[in-house]
Amino acid sequence: MACASAAGVEATALLLPRARLAAASPVAAGHRLSLTPRRTRQRTSLRTAAQRPQKSTTGADPLNGANNVQREEAAVSTDKERQKKYDDGDGISNLQLEDLVGMIQNTEKNILLLNQARLQALEHADKILKEKEALQRKITILETRLSETDAQLKLSAEGNFDTEINDSPLVLEFDVLKEENMLLKEDIEFLKTKLIEVAETEESILKLEKERALLDASLRELESRFIAAQADTLKLGPRKYDTWWDKVEKLEDLLENTANQVEHAAMILDHNHDLQDKLDKLQASLRAATISKFSCDLVDLLQQKVKSVEERFQACNHEMHSQIELYEHSIVEFHETLSKLIEESEKRSLENFTGNMPSELWSRISLLIDGWLLEKKISYNDANMLREMAWKRDSRLREAYLSCRGTENGEVMDKFIKMALPGTSSGLHIAHIAAEMAPVAKVGGLADVISGLAKALQKKGHLVEIILPKYDCMQLDQVNNLKALDVLLQSYFEGSMFNNKIWTGTVEGLPVYFIEPQHPSKFFWRAQYYGEHDDFKRFSYFSRAALELLYQSGKKVDIIHCHDWQTAFVAPLYWDVYANLGFNSARICFTCHNFEYQGTAPARDLAWCGLDVEHLDRPDRMRDNSHGRINVVKGAIVYSNIVTTVSPTYALEVRSEGGRGLQDTLKVHSRKFLGILNGIDTDTWNPSTDRYLKVQYNANDLQGKAANKAALRKQLNLASAYPSQPLVGCITRLVPQKGVHLIRHAIYKTAELGGQFVLLGSSPVPHIQKEFEGIADHFQNNNNIRLILKYDDALSHCIYAASDMFIVPSIFEPCGLTQMIAMRYGSVPIVRKTGGLNDSVFDFDDETIPIEVRNGFTFVKADEQGLSSAMERAFNCYTRKPEVWKQLVQKDMMIDFSWDTSASQYEDIYQRAAARARAAA
Ligand code: ADP
Repeated sequence: MACASAAGVEATALLLPRARLAAASPVAAGHRLSLTPRRTRQRTSLRTAAQRPQKSTTGADPLNGANNVQREEAAVSTDKERQKKYDDGDGISNLQLEDLVGMIQNTEKNILLLNQARLQALEHADKILKEKEALQRKITILETRLSETDAQLKLSAEGNFDTEINDSPLVLEFDVLKEENMLLKEDIEFLKTKLIEVAETEESILKLEKERALLDASLRELESRFIAAQADTLKLGPRKYDTWWDKVEKLEDLLENTANQVEHAAMILDHNHDLQDKLDKLQASLRAATISKFSCDLVDLLQQKVKSVEERFQACNHEMHSQIELYEHSIVEFHETLSKLIEESEKRSLENFTGNMPSELWSRISLLIDGWLLEKKISYNDANMLREMAWKRDSRLREAYLSCRGTENGEVMDKFIKMALPGTSSGLHIAHIAAEMAPVAKVGGLADVISGLAKALQKKGHLVEIILPKYDCMQLDQVNNLKALDVLLQSYFEGSMFNNKIWTGTVEGLPVYFIEPQHPSKFFWRAQYYGEHDDFKRFSYFSRAALELLYQSGKKVDIIHCHDWQTAFVAPLYWDVYANLGFNSARICFTCHNFEYQGTAPARDLAWCGLDVEHLDRPDRMRDNSHGRINVVKGAIVYSNIVTTVSPTYALEVRSEGGRGLQDTLKVHSRKFLGILNGIDTDTWNPSTDRYLKVQYNANDLQGKAANKAALRKQLNLASAYPSQPLVGCITRLVPQKGVHLIRHAIYKTAELGGQFVLLGSSPVPHIQKEFEGIADHFQNNNNIRLILKYDDALSHCIYAASDMFIVPSIFEPCGLTQMIAMRYGSVPIVRKTGGLNDSVFDFDDETIPIEVRNGFTFVKADEQGLSSAMERAFNCYTRKPEVWKQLVQKDMMIDFSWDTSASQYEDIYQRAAARARAAA
């Protein structure tokens, strides 16, 4: 098309680089113009225009008009100069003439060529015009069709198609378009959902990465703990077996933790697999989307996103795998180290022990022997001989036991029996039958006494066992190696025999039996220790079953020690029932921890446990001194060989008023009755090792005590602006015996004196509990007083450590342990002079007693004035003489309240009773 080519030339000329312009121009390309100096200005212009492309190579703009004018002017001036030169010459030569003719001819040719070009250009212009017209027509047609289509679309949109229009190709086209539009919409929706999914996947990956980071951190922690544990194990060599055992247990815990971490990592991996599935599905949908050919860009974008998500996922997965490998590796290493450790330690314990075996192990051995006997696997004789060996801590028994660790029990038994030898011992075999024992079953001081005294006796070389009911609410996590014997013990109750499951385990290194009656009344499945309507029945059942256990195990026990009314049945049962069966080697010791609780019931109830009512319901036996019921504590006083109470002062007190009706009985039996002051378990109550404390401390470093005070204040939300503001503590059962009205007074008095008060206690008496709840509410917004009305062992430790003074304003107090514990923790006691308080606290200002023993503040009368005055003296000393106070605190902390002395007294009376028994045999 001419028009197209002409337009095309210009377009090409404009588009091409300027250097190529000359070649592209049809004029310049085919025809070289000659110079014609004497031509019209028009011609010169034409030539100049024709030369423009060539000049463009010099860099000047060929289209620049100003430059053209300059150049034309230059050309004219050159012609003029030449003219001048010629005119100034001698006329025209032949040669010059020839030149001139040639030039003229050339010019003529050029003119011809130019003419041809002009004609061609005219033709082209003609064609262009025609084509333009044709196009214009087409556009007009298209515009008309477009407006028609628009109208049809409008109609169709309004749903007013007529059949004619419906059939038209445009409508069909429209339908197709509509359909495509719909598809497109759907596809876009689909893509949107996919985009959301991708975003979610991204989120999961981020979560995963976070989890991995956490896992990483815990792995590092585990590694460092592992290294620390390894370092510890290296130091194990010279240590005691107990420490070694602790370490092994710690390692085992660590191992368990590691295993948990691996499990967690595996879970994350599973999650990863789910994620992988999701990604696969996403990709498949995207492929489908590509096939349904919608926006390529969108699909590309999505695919890129998925790819990046997938890459991150792969990276995450990879790291997770390598972490798990690492874990697995460390677990294997762990196992190897542990086995080596166990092996080495066992070797060492066999090689190096010189009779310094921990009580825990001897207790386990003696429980093992008893178990075999009860399971009828060994004879009485063998059991007795082996017990004797265990009791004497015979090294052969220990070696045999250790060499068989991890093997079947039968193997240990064979080895033991082979070495069973008869022997003698100066030690005693003592069995405590009790309703409480710390820390497995603690309500009050009785629990502390059982474990404290038993431990002290065990340390002195006696074989000590404890028999307890198996309560559902007891702290079984405090029992080591708890297991049920493969035998049911039968015991008598209410005319029938009942099975009892016997559990064994060690508590604080002591061998303990737990009796679980299979009685329909579920005696010890009551979610509490005491306070049931059938307590008399429950504990008479237990007393009988406990004796049955001792009897059936064929033990030659020297002392059966029963405590309080709950196990007081043991004394008459032993002498009236079991002694008749030949089980009579033992002597009975009964300790009454509190004469307030005596266990009375209608006489006939005694028959439940097999006691002879007629025989016992007599004033000199078990009938209560003031009413017609029977009294179990009275029965124990009458039937025991030794009767004790828990402090010398209380022993005196109960011989009069304090005896609660039993004073006459005690007088009759006074030869076998004495008071021995309780001790405290100095392992449990030790501020320098107490794991409940924020900071451990001792008498020489009271900084730790201050830190515990600050911690408790923070914990209980008490004011802490003045570190030296005195803190008064009180931990008690809230019963009338403890002087509840005086405790209440002490709270208000402390507030008046500018101190802080913390009470930890609970009451079995509803109106007292309610009263104290009222006081607690009253002070709830006071930042100097806090009442915590519950039982909380851990908190009790913190209060002892944090307090500066400790209140025990009891009306009567058989012994009282809290004042002793308080002193051990550097809290100065303020107590009423009664019972064991009188035997353990000596007034700081009382000049009639030696200064060295003065350790607290006391008052005599159970009234508010007495207490107020003692508190004022204590506060005075604390605030005005801080140095004196500090010395008092240090002195209190160093007093020996251990069971050592008291256990020696028990040992002494046991020995004498046992000697009498041997003499009588
Ligand atoms: P009792 O035996 O008459 O209750 P003791 O002074 O002989 O009194 O012994 C009380 C024992 O019980 C102490 O060990 C004391 O710390 C603990 N105790 C008392 N009340 C609570 C309580 N609410 N929370 C924790 N321990 C308590």
